[in-house]
Amino acid sequence: MARFILALDQGTTSSRALLFDEGGEIAGVEQFEFSQSFPKPGWVEHDPVEIWDSQLRAARGALEKAGARASDVAAIGITNQRETTVVWDRKTGEPIHPAIVWQSRQSSGVCDRLRAAGLEEEIRERTGLLIDAYFSGTKIRFILDAVEGSQSRAEAGELCFGTIDTWLIYKLTKGRVFATEPSNASRTLLFNIAEGAWDDFLLDALGIPRAMLPEVRDSSGVFGETDPSIFGAAIPIAGVAGDQQSALFGQGCVEQGRAKNTYGTGCFLLMNTGAEAPRSEAGLITTVAWRKDDRLEYALEGSIFVAGSAVQWLRDGLEFVSHAAETEALARSVPDSDGVYVVPAFVGLGAPYWDEAARGTIVGLTRGSSRAHITRATLESIAFQTRDVMNAMGQDSGISPSVLRVDGGACENDFLMQFQADILGIAVERPAVLEATAMGAAALAGLGVGFWRDRSELDTKVGPATLFEPDMSEDRRESLYRGWLRAVERSRGWANEDADSGVP
Ligand code: ADP
Repeated sequence: MARFILALDQGTTSSRALLFDEGGEIAGVEQFEFSQSFPKPGWVEHDPVEIWDSQLRAARGALEKAGARASDVAAIGITNQRETTVVWDRKTGEPIHPAIVWQSRQSSGVCDRLRAAGLEEEIRERTGLLIDAYFSGTKIRFILDAVEGSQSRAEAGELCFGTIDTWLIYKLTKGRVFATEPSNASRTLLFNIAEGAWDDFLLDALGIPRAMLPEVRDSSGVFGETDPSIFGAAIPIAGVAGDQQSALFGQGCVEQGRAKNTYGTGCFLLMNTGAEAPRSEAGLITTVAWRKDDRLEYALEGSIFVAGSAVQWLRDGLEFVSHAAETEALARSVPDSDGVYVVPAFVGLGAPYWDEAARGTIVGLTRGSSRAHITRATLESIAFQTRDVMNAMGQDSGISPSVLRVDGGACENDFLMQFQADILGIAVERPAVLEATAMGAAALAGLGVGFWRDRSELDTKVGPATLFEPDMSEDRRESLYRGWLRAVERSRGWANEDADSGVP
């Protein structure tokens, strides 16, 4: 009898594999980092072959650590860094170009062309996205322009495009299965999220041949079996989702109005909007959450560029602490931030401001301000930015969640989580298993083969969550938040020197 689900978590800097047992406990983990390549300023590339090799080694390592064999594994789930683009030769499986990573700006020229053609509104309506180099479609265009002869080869069906999920499925099945699912497809700029299908208008706009696109399947259900040579026996691949949607599922946000925030380097906030796909007026994007039993569910998504990385700045830049976790005691050593606000707009501001020219700002300093106040204000800025995005989600969807579920490295900071609950005025729930991303892929796969009956069965098996209840008066909450909004105003447009008047 198979005892485990194997989750492959292919991230931006490492490939991980986690083996979950029936109670949702982790029985084995392995992880390998792989190389990052920065060929020009703003460009980020990966070697798809190294991604595959590191992922395969991690999978074998996790099995070994748990003393498990292929026959002990009921199914494989895959979750992956989103938008990262691979193009390969359909016959040989050889990539024709390095993978272009989501962070890479190298296709911004393609975006300029789409904007100049006046396509912004049409693209937003069809895809729920903004025109940005972030999304895969412009990266495919870049590769087809960069590699001689590739356009005609793509038209002849000789090339395959895939996000990382598709690339891994292709490798795991030795080229027998060429498929993706809507949470990844909805990040390509080529997928009509209302219809749930590749969109000819968008393919035309980018000149991308349909022949190179994978088939789009349900996120939960059998995609195919791994080639027996890979793990010693065939294992079904039965659940796939992009990392943030996988975390949404892993957090049990399976009903309209449930929301999760991942506190990593940046923050990724997603709220399940059910069968509705509201187009954002407030600077968010609309994305597919997953497709199960042939039904699409959607989410609103907002990203904050700097969150945990502001804590790294306290540690490495200001040298206020030697470990991120020390910020908690330091913040608690003062009763409040004494009017100090830190706006960590180090690379501009993301949702809902989208201000590239904003820069980091500290306001409200007095002679009494100490490193404790600045540290506290920096942690608080993560919570304020989260409230900005939650407000935008409320405006766009008319839904206000009653709980925010949290994961990611910085959610281990109890001070931050309590302040988050206080400043949102709703409870913050931190699950017992913090591996929400891998858990989501495992859950999709386990449900896909009947290892678990339904999502709630799994919820009853994992340990209890930690709850942070709001404990601040409304007056104080709103007054602190008004201060934050004033501080953000001070940070905006700073890098636009020309826009300042009256300065000699
Ligand atoms: P990523 O997946 O983006 O690399 P992680 O989820 O691993 O991020 O979280 C790491 C981030 O969390 C780092 O930026 C780190 O500064 C921050 N972090 C880790 N522990 C704490 C803590 N106890 N308090 C505040 N921030 C923390």
